[in-house]
Amino acid sequence: MLAGCGTPAAGPADRAAQVAAPSPVASPDAPAASGPAGASGASEAPARGGAGAARRVPPTLAPGPGGLTPVFERRAPLSGGAAAEKTVALTFDADMTADQGPRAAGGERFDNPALIDTLRRLDVDATVFMTGRWAEEYPDQARSIGADPRFEVANHSYSHHAFRTPCYGLPTLGRADMAADVERAFAAFRTAGVRNVVPYFRFPGGCYDDDALRALAPAKVTAVQWDVVGGDAFAKDADAVARQVLQGVRPGSVVVLHCTLSAAPVTEQAIRRVVPELRARGYRFVKVSELMAG
Ligand SMILES: [Zn+2]
Repeated sequence: MLAGCGTPAAGPADRAAQVAAPSPVASPDAPAASGPAGASGASEAPARGGAGAARRVPPTLAPGPGGLTPVFERRAPLSGGAAAEKTVALTFDADMTADQGPRAAGGERFDNPALIDTLRRLDVDATVFMTGRWAEEYPDQARSIGADPRFEVANHSYSHHAFRTPCYGLPTLGRADMAADVERAFAAFRTAGVRNVVPYFRFPGGCYDDDALRALAPAKVTAVQWDVVGGDAFAKDADAVARQVLQGVRPGSVVVLHCTLSAAPVTEQAIRRVVPELRARGYRFVKVSELMAG
């Protein structure tokens, strides 16, 4: 069975998400050579709209009480409400579990190049949460995504195993192995030559608790959840996915969808409906880093 990812995590995850919600701060740790930014290199393509401009260090959140890994869910509404800018971050989880290599070798598609093409054609900025195993399987695509200034690549673990039990039937990582699994994904990105890697992490299945947040402290990542579930995992009706996204989006929302054809076959079709409609409502698509920067 494919393990669904991105379905809403109930209970403890919601509670834990409230543990750490400080204001965004620029983290001096972000560009550490051993961290994800080290994979970006110093000679990135400049950000769009600023020929020759230096890449900005992606913002991170300060750790929570006791050093817990901070969690970002959506940009808090600005005071004054009416002035809130209509921005939304579309995020796509590129799922591949560590043991799915034989299935990929047998022809099952864990990538979704048509989705990436559509995001490019529609000129949509987005954040891709990639597993290390995915980057190993599709290094050319991983590089291509990271080289495109529309996108940034974030960490979705190496193994796509669970950081809390239960989690949709995913095998569970031991607490002592959690930070190493995240580091292994960053290492896989470096090996594949992926640029524009940001120090954000999405828990497989969105499943986490305080123990997981504590175990990940050495990885110095900001965990990124979401407030809008696209519902594209195992969906067959693109219109239903589009409706769910359109009903859920508010200014500052983070939407979780997937870049994994095998487990989310209608996502590209849904995006073709969602993007023009949200633009018609005045929304601008931003990467998580821009949303977090406020
Ligand atoms: Zn996932």
